[in-house]
Amino acid sequence: MTVFDSIHYQDHEQVVFAADPASGLKTIIAIHSTALGPALGGTRFYPYATEEEALSDVLRLSRGMTFKAAASGLDLGGGKAVIIGDPDTLKSERLWRAYGQFVESFGGRYITAEDVGTTTADMELIRRETRWSFGTPLSAGGSGDPSPATARGLIAGLRAVATRLRGDRDLTGLRVAIQGVGKVGYAYARLLTEERAEVIFADVDDRAVDRAVRDLGVKAVPLDDILSVDCDVLSPCALGGGINAETIPKLACSAILGSANNQLATDGDAVKLAAAGILYAPDFVVNAGGLINVSQELRGYTEAGASHRIDGIEQATATILDLADTEGITPNEAAIAVAQRRIDTVGGLHRFRPSSC
Ligand code: NAD
Repeated sequence: MTVFDSIHYQDHEQVVFAADPASGLKTIIAIHSTALGPALGGTRFYPYATEEEALSDVLRLSRGMTFKAAASGLDLGGGKAVIIGDPDTLKSERLWRAYGQFVESFGGRYITAEDVGTTTADMELIRRETRWSFGTPLSAGGSGDPSPATARGLIAGLRAVATRLRGDRDLTGLRVAIQGVGKVGYAYARLLTEERAEVIFADVDDRAVDRAVRDLGVKAVPLDDILSVDCDVLSPCALGGGINAETIPKLACSAILGSANNQLATDGDAVKLAAAGILYAPDFVVNAGGLINVSQELRGYTEAGASHRIDGIEQATATILDLADTEGITPNEAAIAVAQRRIDTVGGLHRFRPSSC
C-alpha cells in the first residue's frame, strides 16, 4: 500500500497512521489542508475490508472537508479520520482514550467530531484525553448530534432551490422525495411537514419506514421507485454515488438536494443532470449544517448563533446557482470555484501563522 500513489492523494499536508494493540485500535488521520484553519472532520468507524480501502476513504473524505468548510465561509481546513473495525464490537473506553491521545498529538491541527459509526458519547470519551474533540453531548457542554443542524441546513438550501423552481422560497406544497429517513432524513422530513411540503420517502430499514409513517404521517413508496418517482425535489439522504449514468435517465424530478456526501458517482454526472434540465444543489454546500454547528464550539457554542449561520446556506446556495448561470458551468463546478477562491485568497495568510490554529 502506498500513500503518495493513491489516486485520492492530492496535496494532502499530512497522513498519519496509529495503532494501539491493547485495544485493537487501527486508525488513520488525514489532513488535507490547514490553509484556512485547523482541519475539522469526523471520525468514521467502519469495518473496511482492507487498509487500502480505509486509506482511499480518508484521503477522499478529508479533501471533501476542505471544500465544504471553504464553501461555507468557515475558518477551517479539511481533515478526516477513519478507524478500521466493527464499531458494534470494538468500541471500548481504552480504545477511545488511546485514540484521544493520538488526536491530542496533532496539537489542534486536527479536530475530530462524530461521523458514520461514532456518537456524541464516543466524542465525550475522546474528550477525556484531548480538548480537540467536538460534538460532545449538549449536557457535556458540546454542540450535540449534528444531524438536526444538517436537516436545518437542507431546508435553507431548499428555499434557494424553491425560489429557482417556483419564484418563491415558501415550501408549501413542494413535493419532496427522500431516500433514507435516518438521523438526517427523518429530521428533514419533520421540518418539511412543518413547512406543509408534501413528503414521500423510502428506506431499506422497515423500522425507519414505520417510524416516519407513524410519527410524521408521510407516505412510503417502494425502494426501487424512489429515484424515479415524480417529484419537485429528490433528496438523497442515504448513501453516496446514487446519481449515476444508470439512474439519471430514470429521474423524474426538477431538482436534487440532499444530505448524502458524494451523491454524484462522477463529476461528469453534473453535466448529464444539467443536460436533462435537472437543477443540482451541490451536496457539500447544502449538507454543511452539521459542520457549521460543530464549528461553533471554537467560539463558544450557542444554538441561536449556530442556527443563524446555518440559515446562511440559503444565500450560499443561491450565490452558487447564480454563478453557475453567469459562468455557464455546473453548480458543482461553481461551488468548487467559490471554495477554491476562498482558499487562494484568505488561505494566503497561512504563511504568517505560527501554527495553523
Ligand atoms: P443514518 O445511517 O442515520 O441514515 C441513513 C438512512 O438511509 C438509514 O435509515 C438507512 O436505513 C437508509 N438507507 C441506506 N441505504 C438505503 C437505500 N439504498 N435506500 C433507502 N434508504 C437507505 O445516516 P445519517 O446520519 O442520517 O446520514 C445520511 C447521509 O448524510 C450520509 O451519507 C451521511 O454521510 C450524510 N451526512 C450526514 C450528516 C449528519 O449530520 N449526520 C452531515 C453531513 C452529511
